Amino acid sequence: MSFPEIRLKLPQWLDETVAGTDTAYPTAQARMEMVVRLSELNIAHKTGGPFAAGIFDEEGRLIAPGANLVERSGCSLWHAEMVAIAMAQSKVGRFDLGNGGREHFELVTSTEPCAMCFGAIHWSGLSRLVCGAREQDARDAGFDEGAKPADWSGELQKRGITVERDVLRQQAAAVLARYAASGGTIYNPPNTHL
Ligand SMILES: [Zn+2]
Repeated sequence: MSFPEIRLKLPQWLDETVAGTDTAYPTAQARMEMVVRLSELNIAHKTGGPFAAGIFDEEGRLIAPGANLVERSGCSLWHAEMVAIAMAQSKVGRFDLGNGGREHFELVTSTEPCAMCFGAIHWSGLSRLVCGAREQDARDAGFDEGAKPADWSGELQKRGITVERDVLRQQAAAVLARYAASGGTIYNPPNTHL
């Protein structure tokens, strides 16, 4: 018996939007602006849900983008953060982005991570997390965030990952609300009863 190879290919618009740019985004706000824009484009291009992410190096350059590709790929793993982490690790060629503490990468996500992405963050070697919309904003739009520790940001910080929340929260949350109001698919775990 042989099983399929698993491949992850970014939508063409995403590749084209970010490819070949060596732009540095000097502030967390500038990085979030870019990521929120990707979340809007993911809806506009109908390639997935209203979520995007990016991994940036210490100079604020985008190393890897991510957008929610769950429906398109038929795979529940491909939340925006997971896509960005997988892309970044593939790009640097190792599972520990931090390279044993010698390098520092930041994940910027348009919405606070769900239970799956929260778990993935501390296995990834990331040093810093920047969030836009709050998980409550995602819940208000109908998305389940899963079971996370109540003090999830404190748990990350205990493991050496700094967390900054509410960066352009309103803009990021507005994308979620618009998506829900327009009747976009809300894909939750099958046994979710919110
Ligand atoms: Zn997630």
